[in-house]
Amino acid sequence: MSSEMPFSSAETLDQYLLNHNLRLSFDGYAFEEWQNQLTSNLKECLGPFPEKPVPLNSRVISTEKFEKFTLHRVIYDSRSDSPVPAYLLIPHGIREKSPAVLCIHGHVPEGKANLVFGDGQYGVPYGRELAEQGLVTLCPDNAGMGERAHPSGGCDFLWRRLNLLGHDLTGYRVYDLIRSVDYLQSLSEVDETRIGIAGLSGGCWLGIVHAALDPRVQAAILSGYFTTFAQTSWFGHCICHHPKGIGELCEMPDIAGLIAPRPIFVEWGNQDTSRPVHPAFEITQKIYSVANAEDQITLHEFEGGHVFSGQRSLPWLIQELSG
Ligand SMILES: [Zn+2]
Repeated sequence: MSSEMPFSSAETLDQYLLNHNLRLSFDGYAFEEWQNQLTSNLKECLGPFPEKPVPLNSRVISTEKFEKFTLHRVIYDSRSDSPVPAYLLIPHGIREKSPAVLCIHGHVPEGKANLVFGDGQYGVPYGRELAEQGLVTLCPDNAGMGERAHPSGGCDFLWRRLNLLGHDLTGYRVYDLIRSVDYLQSLSEVDETRIGIAGLSGGCWLGIVHAALDPRVQAAILSGYFTTFAQTSWFGHCICHHPKGIGELCEMPDIAGLIAPRPIFVEWGNQDTSRPVHPAFEITQKIYSVANAEDQITLHEFEGGHVFSGQRSLPWLIQELSG
């Protein structure tokens, strides 16, 4: 403990973090039993979730044609009185049911706009890029961002309200993603058995949890936030990355291990040192190995910062969903 701040609670808690055991971190044995146990504990930590889904009541608000796809502005209900605005991109000339990708935006106030109209600040706008390459993409706004932002604030505003009610903001957003897959599966253009996800940054965090809890996700690109709580959330980041009790339950790469044996592609820019991919990747890789799926996890480290590269991940996802 520092002699300059002998009564600092933060330093005491730092020692606790370094020394305590995670209750359900993977111990290398009984993979399926561990997977079931952590999944059930994770749902409890992030819930409660609605017992029954409400009707989607989906509607198209407007339609605009671009060179290679048609963009529909759509709305569907996640919970009662909780409409989700999204962009649905349908490539021109689809003749049979197509694979689809749920594109999860990062932790930015403009929300889904970057996924389609991004200027490169956050790398490749993957919602548009995948549609231009022939896949249906769905780009919803996460609660508190984009069209779902509130003038009084984003995550803090929502987190305070949900916390008073005993809910969690990550869980709240992940449930919207589960309902977004429901919406994709309701579309005549989409093959409901070939649905993937892609997410950068805060969208990577939500994507890890979503894919872990939703077995319909067939493949996932996890970009720019494949890391550990100990290296990120512990030192800051937004309150929305701190579900109650999760740091006592497991580490982030354990949650990614729940996706096994389904394939995941991790990307990380080697200048993004505040969100290190090591040792998280190796921890999840070990879990995949025990699940006999060591060839289903890939890492692309690229020269660059906190952006979505797509250089290797996008062709990989298209291949995974085309088979
Ligand atoms: Zn946040």
